[in-house]
Amino acid sequence: MSTAPAASAVKSIGHHIGGSPREGSSGRSGKVYCPASGEMTAEVAFAGQAEVDQAVDAAQAAFPDWAARPPHVRARVMFRLRDLIESNAEKFAELINSEHGKVLSDARGEVTRGLEVVEFACSAPVLLKGEFSENVGRGIDSIAQRQPLGVVAGITPFNFPAMVPMWMFPVALVCGNCFILKVSEKVPSAAMLIAELLKEAGLPDGVFNVVNGDRETVEALIDHPGIRAISFVGSTPIARSIYQRGTNAGKRVQALGGAKNHMVIMPDADLDQAVDALMGAAYGSAGERCMAISAAVPVGDATADALIEKLAPRVRDLQIGAGLDAADEMGALVTGEHRDKVSSYVDLGVEEGAELVVDGRGLKLQGLENGFFIGGTLFDRVTPDMRIYKEEIFGPVLSVVRSPSFDHALQLVNDHEFGNGTAIMTNDGGAARAFMNGVKAGMVGVNVPIPVPMAFHSFGGWKESLFGDHHIHGAEGVRFYTQLKTSTIRWNDGLTKGASYAMPTNS
Ligand code: NAD
Repeated sequence: MSTAPAASAVKSIGHHIGGSPREGSSGRSGKVYCPASGEMTAEVAFAGQAEVDQAVDAAQAAFPDWAARPPHVRARVMFRLRDLIESNAEKFAELINSEHGKVLSDARGEVTRGLEVVEFACSAPVLLKGEFSENVGRGIDSIAQRQPLGVVAGITPFNFPAMVPMWMFPVALVCGNCFILKVSEKVPSAAMLIAELLKEAGLPDGVFNVVNGDRETVEALIDHPGIRAISFVGSTPIARSIYQRGTNAGKRVQALGGAKNHMVIMPDADLDQAVDALMGAAYGSAGERCMAISAAVPVGDATADALIEKLAPRVRDLQIGAGLDAADEMGALVTGEHRDKVSSYVDLGVEEGAELVVDGRGLKLQGLENGFFIGGTLFDRVTPDMRIYKEEIFGPVLSVVRSPSFDHALQLVNDHEFGNGTAIMTNDGGAARAFMNGVKAGMVGVNVPIPVPMAFHSFGGWKESLFGDHHIHGAEGVRFYTQLKTSTIRWNDGLTKGASYAMPTNS
C-alpha cells in the first residue's frame, strides 16, 4: 500500500499584484485537486479584465525604475532568489507533488532545472554587454545595445508548475522588463511561492505579478495593449492560436507547443541502456513531459523483439504511488479528466489494431482508490497512420513503431508533424552523426533520452512544436526579451564639411 497524502482543508488562492497577495474579484474560479487522493484541495480565483488591468498598471508603474537599475543590481535580486529557492526546494517539491502528482524526486529535479535558469540570469551584466565598433567611418564609432521591451507576460502549462515559469521570468527580469505570470489553473501554488520569494529577495513591488486564471484571463493578457511580448508554453492548438492572436496584436510571441518524441534504437545499441533510458523517458512524470519519449523506433525486427522482451516486464513492474515514498517511480495523472483521455487513447490503439503488450487501464491503488492513476502502457506494432502515433497522448503510453532501416527511421521522425526532441541509441558514430545532422527536431540526444538543454543553451522545438523565432532561455531568451538598438556616433572632429545628398558610404 502506497503512502497517502495527508488530507488538508480547502485553501483559497488569489493573485499577486503590485507586490501583495490579492483576492479574486471576478466571481470566477476553478478547482485544484490532489491527483493521488482525488480530493479537491484549493479553489483558485480566475482573473478578469479588471485584475489583468491592475497587474499591467502595476508593472508599467514599476518599469521605469527597474529598467534604469544597472544590470548587476538587477542580478543581485537573482542571487538572493537563487538561495531562497534552494532553501525552499523541499516546499516547492511538496507543492508540485500535491497538485501535479509527479513523484517527489522528479519534482525536486524540476526545481533544480528551474534554479539553473535563475543562476544563468545572475550573469546579466555579461549577457547585456552589447557591442562596440571603433571607426566604422572616419571619426565614427558604432554601439549596439539591447534594451528591455517593457511589460511582458508568460503563460505556462500544468506539467512544470515551477520550472517552466523559471524558463521565462528570470531572464525577462534581469533584462529590465516587468513580468506578469499566468500559470496553469491546475497547479497554481508554486507560482504564488515564487512571488513571495521574489519579494523577499528584494524585487521592487510591481516588477513581478501573478494573475491566475483560464482562457478568459489569457485572452485579456494577449489583447492588452500594455503588454509587449508573450512567452507561451502549452499544447500545440493553443500555442498556434496564441501566436496568431498575439502577433496580430503587434506583440512579440514565442509559443512552444506539444510533442511526439521518437527514440531510434539501432541494432548495435546497448539494449539494457536503451531500456533504462526508455523507462525514465516514457514513464517518468507519468509521460506528462513535452520531452517524454512516446515513440520507440527499433531498427530491425530482431532489435524490436529483444527490446519488447526486456521492456514489457519493466513496464508491468513499475512502482506506482502517491509519489511520497522514495520507491515510487510514477505518480498519478494531473486530473481525472486527463486520466480518462489517456485511457481512451489506449482504447483507440486497440481499435486501430496496435498490439497491446501492457495495459495500464483501470488501475486502482489500495488506499488511493479515488486517485487519477493509470498504469504504464506499452503498444507494439504501431503504424504511422494510427492516431495513437500521430497525436500527443501526454500519458504513460509508449508506442513501439518497428522500422526496417536507419533511413526509414529517420524519415519517420522527419515526417511527423511535431519536432520537439528526439534521441538515437547507438554505438555507431557515423549513424549518430547522420541522425544529428539530418533530423528535423529542435533538441537531439545521442544516447541521452531526454536532451533538455542546460539553462545557458536554449530550449525549443521545430515544426508544430514551436511558433515564433526564438527558443527559450539562454542567449535566445536574452534576444527575445530585449530590443536591439544600434547607434552611430560622431563627435565634432572637423571632418564634416557641407551637405551630402548621396547614401552615406565609407571611402
Ligand atoms: P494547455 O495548452 O491546455 O494550457 C497551457 C496554458 O494555456 C495554461 O496556462 C492554460 O490555462 C492556458 N489555456 C488553456 N486553454 C486555453 C485557451 N483555449 N485559450 C487560451 N489559453 C488557454 O496545456 P497543458 O495541458 O497545461 O500542458 C500540456 C501541454 O503543454 C502538452 O501539449 C505539452 O507537450 C506542452 N508542453 C510543451 C512544452 C515545450 O517546451 N514545448 C513544455 C511543457 C509542456
